[in-house]
Amino acid sequence: MSIGIIGGGVTGLTVGYELAKKGHQIVLFEGQPYLGGQASTFEIEGTRLERYYHHIFTGDEDMMRLIGELGLTDRMQWLASKVGFFYEGKTYDFVTPFDLLRFEPLSLLQRVRAGLVTLYLQRFGDWRTLEGFTAQGWMRRYAGQEAHEVIFAPLLRAKFGEYADQVTMAWLWSKFKDRVGSRSRTMARELLGYMEGSFQPFIDALADGIRAQGGEVLTDAPVERVIVEGGRVKGVQAGDTWPLDKVIATVPSFVFLDIVPDLPADYADQLREVRYQTSLCLVLKMTHSLSRIYWLNISDPTFPFVGAIEHTNLIPSEKYNGKHILYLSDYVAKSDPLYSASAEELMMHYLPSLRQINSDFDVDWVEDSWLFREDAAQPIITCGYSRRIPSYETPVEDLYLANTTQIYPQDRGMNYSVRLGRVVGELVDQ
Ligand SMILES: Cc1cc2nc3c(=O)[nH]c(=O)nc-3n(C[C@H](O)[C@H](O)[C@H](O)COP(=O)(O)OP(=O)(O)OC[C@H]3O[C@@H](n4cnc5c(N)ncnc54)[C@H](O)[C@@H]3O)c2cc1C
Repeated sequence: MSIGIIGGGVTGLTVGYELAKKGHQIVLFEGQPYLGGQASTFEIEGTRLERYYHHIFTGDEDMMRLIGELGLTDRMQWLASKVGFFYEGKTYDFVTPFDLLRFEPLSLLQRVRAGLVTLYLQRFGDWRTLEGFTAQGWMRRYAGQEAHEVIFAPLLRAKFGEYADQVTMAWLWSKFKDRVGSRSRTMARELLGYMEGSFQPFIDALADGIRAQGGEVLTDAPVERVIVEGGRVKGVQAGDTWPLDKVIATVPSFVFLDIVPDLPADYADQLREVRYQTSLCLVLKMTHSLSRIYWLNISDPTFPFVGAIEHTNLIPSEKYNGKHILYLSDYVAKSDPLYSASAEELMMHYLPSLRQINSDFDVDWVEDSWLFREDAAQPIITCGYSRRIPSYETPVEDLYLANTTQIYPQDRGMNYSVRLGRVVGELVDQ
């Protein structure tokens, strides 16, 4: 069967790889000049680096199984994470339950209460019983108003901005699960996985796997239109016309709506209902390190960004000729004035705050910078989401959709894109 795949991110490459192994004729269309989508890389100091910070957890079994199959297990490095919390001008370690117990901004009673709630969610919680509640309402009630305002509300605001108060507790639950899955048995540390030289070899190996079975992987090949006749898919328009038996779109829902004409109204409405937050990621190459923390959550609503992720506090700076790599991360709605800011404008906006994290910081430390913007970075997952997930099979015969809006209750991530790619591959192969 000839199968077209739209999108060369982790989902598209995985589904293409799985179906190529089953003997199908694959043509993958990627609009950008490079593969990898949100997990794509660029060159910095002679090595590859993700445009957006990336690591995996020890519990990411689907990803690890595929990495193993591709012969890349030896390239995985498991490193102790250094997570911190920046609150009222001070950085606190925030990796283990013991760090929470030492977190001075909360009273001892509040810390113990927040710790017990965290433990409950990690061990016993069931997302089905939680999805009717907002994360904000549930955490205020059980972890306490103050713990919520200091710790959990900033995390929700960081990702969902103005929609933070609508996010379902099931989503927050999944974040606790992911993190406990990456803890050592003694709970004393958390291990995070990163591939030597970036995740680019993983992306390349998937594309090579498709080509090895006779498939085509095309870059710079945006699909302009999915060709539908009599309610059935006939192919795609990507420069030329490509006749195909089946098509799997792994693009964001708003792109799918653009390229598939005359979608039945019910399905189109369902796709429109899920909104996304845009990620703004400013990458700085610096001569000095900003702090000792890898992942610094900012619990200060006046800060212009929500996370400072110092990649070279996970991977030694020697890998990048001694340079220090810092991602400054924010999630915004398209209506936010920052959405269309240039790299220079964002630098002006962000850099003064770095001095609050490290008073020695000097703008001269910054040797180079890159701004990346991803419109489909984070689907907004609200209460009762399980009833609104668009189906993989669309109302157009032989046309399938597989994107991050269908990942639930887990937070979107490469592991779940791999799982999605495999599941949809099995469905299409039936
Ligand atoms: C800031 C940020 C940090 C993240 N951190 C992590 C992390 O630490 N760990 C982790 O596991 N995951 C992380 N993720 C999530 C992870 O990268 C994504 O969940 C995953 O890569 C999504 O893959 P995808 O293939 O579903 O979507 P995408 O990567 O979005 O792929 C879709 C592809 O479709 C292409 N496309 C769009 N329109 C067309 C068209 N018309 N024709 C052809 N192609 C088209 C796009 O160019 C893109 O390549 C992060 C994401 C972001 C944004």
